[in-house]
Amino acid sequence: MIPGIVVKNQTKNTSSLTSSSWQAALAAAVRDPFELIRLLELEGQGVDISLAAARQFRLLVPHSYLRRMKRGDWHDPLLRQVLPLAAEMQPAMDFLMDPVGDAEAMVSEGVLHKYQGRVLLVTTGACAIHCRYCFRRHFPYSAANPARDHWQDALDYIASHPEITEVLLSGGDPLTLSDERLSLLCERIAAIEHVQRIRLHTRLPLVLPERIDERLLTWLGKFNKQIIMVIHANHAQEFQDAEVQAGLKALREVGVLLLNQSVLLRGVNDSVPALAALSEALVAAHVLPYYLHILDRVQGAAHFEVPEDEAKALVAELRLTVPGYMVPQLVREVAGEGAKTPL
Ligand SMILES: *Cc1c(COP(=O)(O)O)cnc(C)c1O
Ligand code: SF4
Repeated sequence: MIPGIVVKNQTKNTSSLTSSSWQAALAAAVRDPFELIRLLELEGQGVDISLAAARQFRLLVPHSYLRRMKRGDWHDPLLRQVLPLAAEMQPAMDFLMDPVGDAEAMVSEGVLHKYQGRVLLVTTGACAIHCRYCFRRHFPYSAANPARDHWQDALDYIASHPEITEVLLSGGDPLTLSDERLSLLCERIAAIEHVQRIRLHTRLPLVLPERIDERLLTWLGKFNKQIIMVIHANHAQEFQDAEVQAGLKALREVGVLLLNQSVLLRGVNDSVPALAALSEALVAAHVLPYYLHILDRVQGAAHFEVPEDEAKALVAELRLTVPGYMVPQLVREVAGEGAKTPL
């Protein structure tokens, strides 16, 4: 059986309708912690869930992602990424609202220029999943919205800086934008001569695989500048889905370069077997491991932290376990630095 073919044909049939099925899948995502618990058949008091944390940063998890979680397991690595816990509400020293210095790097609304040659656009505040460790969980999206003036300031900034060769679309998640808006934005960026590449940072190929439909693939495939997609996978189990595999294959087939960056997370991927399995799953899907990030110290995420010494030891041992190309670069983002800091 070739599951990819089956899935793609299904996508093709539905995408000819006007409203996209991925938007319906996103609208149907689970937003209520109790519904999540019921669907996963979780019993007893496995962990300390916090409704206050869920109010501060809403629970959001699409059904496709949920189907990859193990039933009845409070410690499932995918569940842990989305479940609001009491630990989030405990103030932690040195954990900040803006740990990576986004505010000081903002050169225009939603435009972050930290590194030479690359500029990052915060395209939207919307995501298809809410990751509890997110370093932008407190980001002032409504006050930093480059779409307000139809991107004009952002585009002017890029056009007036000939040294910018790569534009990163981030957020939030840029793939939550409709194809109309996203393709128009990409076209306008690509029309700036010195821009050579557009890089999309997105979790949607993993968490909402319905998003990789014929409509998206068609315009990506015809795009006149290189498209790089950095998917943010943290665990091998995230790949155990035929539609995810088919989506990644389809992206590759239209010429998108696929990379991955992960965050090293306590209770999710903080072991050599978990990291090795993740790299194996990535490479099997033709995605190269790029970065493994030390957790950004954002308020609410302290319980995910793996100390730097332990992180270094894990990666050193990983290096003895898998081929070199399966070892991501261990990095930390230091506010004010000119690049991610390798460890
Ligand atoms: C991480 C980041 C980039 C990209 O850095 P690379 O090392 O090229 O992946 C660019 N701009 C900003 C603001 C970033 O945070
Ligand atoms: S911005 Fe990325 S890490 Fe943060 S909640 Fe959205 S998908 Fe998750």
